[in-house]
Amino acid sequence: MNISEELHLICKSCGKRFPSPVQMPREAFDKPAAMPGTNSYACPHCGVPHHYAKADYFFA
Ligand SMILES: [Zn+2]
Repeated sequence: MNISEELHLICKSCGKRFPSPVQMPREAFDKPAAMPGTNSYACPHCGVPHHYAKADYFFA
């Protein structure tokens, strides 16, 4: 496991990557119930909030 990995999201408005406000280890994320169905976060680049599903998260 690479402990420097962080969960990231791609803004649905500006397309820029930003770190997820919610962080967890990959082992926890891989469990089916790890992430709530929807989360709304404001992009730090453009400020537009969007809902993000678990499939939108990725480690980088
Ligand atoms: Zn944005």
